Amino acid sequence: MNLILMGAPGAGKGTQARRLYADFGLPQISTGDILREAVRQQTELGKRARPIMEAGRLVPDELMVGIIEERLKSPDCQKGFVLDGFPRTVAQAEALEHMLARMGKRIDAVVSLEVPLAELIERQTGRRSCPKCLAIYHVTHNPPKREGFCDKDGTALVQRDDDKPEAAKKRQDVYAEQTAPVKAFYAAKGLLRNLNGVGSPDGIYAELRKALGK
Ligand code: AMP
Repeated sequence: MNLILMGAPGAGKGTQARRLYADFGLPQISTGDILREAVRQQTELGKRARPIMEAGRLVPDELMVGIIEERLKSPDCQKGFVLDGFPRTVAQAEALEHMLARMGKRIDAVVSLEVPLAELIERQTGRRSCPKCLAIYHVTHNPPKREGFCDKDGTALVQRDDDKPEAAKKRQDVYAEQTAPVKAFYAAKGLLRNLNGVGSPDGIYAELRKALGK
């Protein structure tokens, strides 16, 4: 199954993608995680992406398309994958379609997690993550056992620069302007399923499985 998870920043794409990986072995391809790793490693890509990400804007399409094309060729993607954070523009969606066609593949389903704006901002600004294992927490909804430290490996948790209030707001605007039209692109192909993204992660995951017929 080749799946796209859509949803504004804070909608819970990463959390759900990790569950799909745990249950079905579908690799989670998070362009945000790939870019953050490039920033940490200070690669050429990372150096270009960093100021753009910190401002809450989108990294240019041609860079993103190249990253995805390379990633989709890896052996672990041959039995299916979950795209989390890509495509974010209609141009990326079109490029993805052409690239998959060249590989003899297609997208089977697109699920959009729908969450009201006020809750998105609250989730985003309260989010903390482990820079080592990438586990995600929330200061009130899903706090770690020891405040400020990862349950799994004890690493000090961090707040992403782009989850701080000003960038968080900017990212919501960018989603509404540039990424929401991607939903129409997939709706026109009959692939889009909107899912209520408010509630417990377990409950949402159960609905997600139902939507995928699993
Ligand atoms: P995320 O973790 O998915 O919220 O992504 C964090 C940031 O990485 C975004 O705010 C963008 O600056 C950048 N980014 C991630 N995926 C994409 C994409 N598909 N196109 C453009 N920029 C992206």
